[in-house]
Amino acid sequence: MQSAGVKGEVEALRTLPGDDVRQILWRYTDRFDLQMLVQSVRAVARGPVARLVSNGARNTHEWTEEKNRLLEDFDAAGITSVFMDPQYGGYIEGPKNFALALVAFELAWVDAGAATGSLATALGLAPIHERGTPEQRDRYMMAAVPPQPGEDRQVWRAAFALTEPLPYVGVETGLLSGKVRVAEWEEGKEPILEVNKRGRFITNMGFANFVTAAVDSGDPRIKGSSMVILEETDPGLYDRGTPTRKLVHQLSSTCDPVFQLRIPASRIVGGYTVKDGVIIPRYSHGEVIEAVFRRTRVTVGLMTAAKLLSAIEPLIRYHRDRFRGGETVVPGSPRFELGLQQKEDVLHRLLEVWATGEAAASLGFEAARLFDTLDPLEKEKDELLASKGIAGGTAAFKLIRRHQKDALEFLELDAQPASRRDPRRHEALQNDLMVRFLLLDSAANVLCPACKLWNTGHGANMMREAVSLMGGYGITEDCPGFLGHKWMDAQLEATYEGPEAVQRRQLSVTMTNEVFLAQFRDWIRDMRKIASRRPGTGACTLASAMTLWLWTLEHVQKATDADGQKLYQSTRQGVSFPLADALCWLLASRYQILDVLALEEQGPLNPTVAEGLAGTLQFLTDLCHMQAARAAGEVGRICTELVYGFSRHPAWEQEGYEGCYKEEELIAIDSLIPGMSGFATDVVGAGGEHPTKAGPCARVPGLEDFTRLRTKLDSCLTGAGLAKDRAAQSLTKVMIPAALDYPA
Ligand SMILES: Cc1cc2nc3c(=O)[nH]c(=O)nc-3n(C[C@H](O)[C@H](O)[C@H](O)COP(=O)(O)OP(=O)(O)OC[C@H]3O[C@@H](n4cnc5c(N)ncnc54)[C@H](O)[C@@H]3O)c2cc1C
Repeated sequence: MQSAGVKGEVEALRTLPGDDVRQILWRYTDRFDLQMLVQSVRAVARGPVARLVSNGARNTHEWTEEKNRLLEDFDAAGITSVFMDPQYGGYIEGPKNFALALVAFELAWVDAGAATGSLATALGLAPIHERGTPEQRDRYMMAAVPPQPGEDRQVWRAAFALTEPLPYVGVETGLLSGKVRVAEWEEGKEPILEVNKRGRFITNMGFANFVTAAVDSGDPRIKGSSMVILEETDPGLYDRGTPTRKLVHQLSSTCDPVFQLRIPASRIVGGYTVKDGVIIPRYSHGEVIEAVFRRTRVTVGLMTAAKLLSAIEPLIRYHRDRFRGGETVVPGSPRFELGLQQKEDVLHRLLEVWATGEAAASLGFEAARLFDTLDPLEKEKDELLASKGIAGGTAAFKLIRRHQKDALEFLELDAQPASRRDPRRHEALQNDLMVRFLLLDSAANVLCPACKLWNTGHGANMMREAVSLMGGYGITEDCPGFLGHKWMDAQLEATYEGPEAVQRRQLSVTMTNEVFLAQFRDWIRDMRKIASRRPGTGACTLASAMTLWLWTLEHVQKATDADGQKLYQSTRQGVSFPLADALCWLLASRYQILDVLALEEQGPLNPTVAEGLAGTLQFLTDLCHMQAARAAGEVGRICTELVYGFSRHPAWEQEGYEGCYKEEELIAIDSLIPGMSGFATDVVGAGGEHPTKAGPCARVPGLEDFTRLRTKLDSCLTGAGLAKDRAAQSLTKVMIPAALDYPA
């Protein structure tokens, strides 16, 4: 097919990007351990997991024997131990956010329920990993590692119980009804606590041997909330509850458990102190879950990214083969060779799905890598604070405020040419622990919710597109690539671990952090530089969209609406939430572009990648351009709605107002459109809905700068359609394997 807008031959994509390309894009060429992990997880995903789905295991929400056997497959493939440090029997040194992200991605490529099930023990362990005492870590991490050859013990599985039956904990995590009281407290002995907790929708609950549960104090002798560890053999009631009648993620177990148990106080996650006869938990449940979710949510975002990218191959195959076998469709004919790919719309829509998947993966893997860099720094920062006797609260806040100034100074110096800045000060700040921590922390606080929100929310919408491209097949159990299941599953990923509102709420705070915004300004500058070097990436479009977003954020932070109410405030989700959405589009597009630039740089060094690299790069660059244009469109729409939407029309209030347009303006506009001359006179003459005399809509005072930025942005979309046409041409030529690599 020769697309209407494409002249001549372009370097076409030869094959779908393979592992070698992905390793460069997602930056793990030097991690042989992770490359091996990917292969091992893939064998489980495309083997036992795919067979279960094919055989209809998703048709029940019961936790069956065959589903339970998957846990053993996970153990044998090393999936269960990925989370554990080597000292507890794990095999990956250092932080594991990226490793866990790869595991989730590979499993969710086939089934995200399997991915969730495999990671739920890690979620149950995460409170202990992040905030547990050394004794708690030793006991539960070791118990959760599968037995080694020669060991005779049962592996322990975990669950994480925060959500409670209505009307308690859901999005609002503070509404706890789970209670902990002192049951016994003998002089000089450890207190025994009684825990009453009901859970709703708790993953792994069909078989979990222990649970980390959020509870509030129901006793004046215990201060505040905490997380506690409950074991199945603790005295009392450990009722797993009824299975949730869910429509999604059927390869994980979900139930509504009930616990009424007696536990020693040493099960409070992170330990406790006693002051004046009151047990004071070291961490509130809020502090624990904050530390947990900021990491695990990235993994969830990557599950949806995997679904989108997994849809590409089955869709290309379906489209190509659509008419083969028909009596009149002979080999060699366009209908035989291209099938539905003869139609531009099918190609373009598939490209939109593909570009979203690439951007979502780029954003998610960047966030995971960022947490790997941040984790050790965070520990060092905690040690530094502890060495100064600062445990948290106001003292920690003041210290961080002071170092924020250093971080901002560093960014300012860093932006200057080396010859103009004080090199000693620059170097000192660059190596300062708190500066390094604050830079990464402020970015991580944005990237994590952005990835969870955009990948899953927009990803779920795009999965619907993918399903639609498979026609009727898309909504059957037989759909190659299980796309129908994946569409529905994506909605759960957008819901659990905090639905979209939670992520938007978090972003509305973290995206206004000065250190983040200072970095964001640098990112705009970087994008402009990239644009001058590699204009085809859409970097120019993106830089303009980023500038518009920043202008709008600053504007709404100062502006009031027509009634004098502040626009940017926590209760005004109609302002802060759309801006958070807009930011996500920008970030996803940015990391997609940066990944392709990494491929451009490193691809030639790898002989397998170098072969066909020109076509791969051209194609992925075109996807970047398309995605940047789409992001710019979204950002332009959102910003315009916010900037104009809360002003009252300057003319509406005026005495004698009669309409939006001046007559001469209406006439000028109509003259641009064939067949509309005379319309203005008609309207004006008839005294209709839009008669004349007052000022035009577009001239709300003080917004000329916005109009300039908006006009610039629109013109930056130049070439985006051509990029799509070029990519579409590639799509018709790319070679795909003869059959899907897992059963349908
Ligand atoms: C299959 C499955 C597995 C799960 N696994 C676990 C698990 O292992 N452990 C666990 O603890 N939980 C688990 N959950 C629970 C899940 O995390 C919650 O369902 C989720 O956090 C949302 O809570 P909710 O259902 O009570 O929604 P609600 O709190 O009722 O929210 C409903 C909707 O209202 C809106 N909303 C609510 N509050 C606000 C607000 N302040 N601002 C703006 N909008 C708002 C949002 O749009 C939200 O999506 C699981 C859920 C499912 C379905």
